[in-house]
Amino acid sequence: MSPEPPPLLAVDRLVKRFGGFRALDGVSFSLKAGEVLGLVGPNGSGKTTCINTISGLYPPDGGAVRFAGERLGGLAPHRRARLGINRTFQSPRPFASLTVRQNVALAAAYGRRRGVDEPVSLAALLAMLELDHLAERRAEDLNSAQQKQLDLARALATGPRLLLVDELAAGLNPAELTRMAERLAALARGGMALLVVEHLLSFLDRLTDRVIVMNAGREIFEGSLAAATRNPEVVRVFLGSDHAG
Ligand code: ADP
Ligand code: MG
Repeated sequence: MSPEPPPLLAVDRLVKRFGGFRALDGVSFSLKAGEVLGLVGPNGSGKTTCINTISGLYPPDGGAVRFAGERLGGLAPHRRARLGINRTFQSPRPFASLTVRQNVALAAAYGRRRGVDEPVSLAALLAMLELDHLAERRAEDLNSAQQKQLDLARALATGPRLLLVDELAAGLNPAELTRMAERLAALARGGMALLVVEHLLSFLDRLTDRVIVMNAGREIFEGSLAAATRNPEVVRVFLGSDHAG
């Protein structure tokens, strides 16, 4: 019997401090190829910090991130992209004066995973993300939904095996939401692992049943989305944040 391969992503007691404040206070979870894990929690609970630390934007202050069994240490984001880790941004910041095509081509050139010749052609990627008719537009001329599509195209251009998604659904209309959920589900069916930070639970529900709920830098629940919405502590944390505005 061959031993079980390591999970694609293993996050082990991750800590990230800002001054004396612990934005991540010992978060642990793992993710296999082809799996989608939802990450939910009130504003400020550490979701984006979690993505920033896994993607290499912030070095962790404790704990470890392992990718395919290898500890990543202080590896820079573009080096992680070449290993097969990429992410989208809650507030995308494309190169404003470059065109859509130039933005995606640049990401592909800079971060493309080693050993992947052409993960998917640029034209096919732009078509898949409904950006083909906007390819020669400058990024600054896109609306916010189109900028989210561009940001996803940029991340996918590197051929990731692990995609970290930060609130992609915000600002999309119902038809766009449906197509985005279908697109992410198809990526997972193709073997990509996805960590999806999302407030819109109906969107997450179309992608996965497994979620982690965070509060104040800690994991307070792991299990199915349905069970999360019935969990008293989860409910209290969400109602509390709503009342706090
Ligand atoms: P979420 O994405 O769940 O809304 P964040 O991960 O963005 O939460 O933030 C978690 C906490 O860490 C917040 O209190 C936030 O203000 C703080 N934080 C995040 N990034 C930084 C930073 N670069 N410098 C200082 N504090 C930060
Ligand atoms: Mg966030």
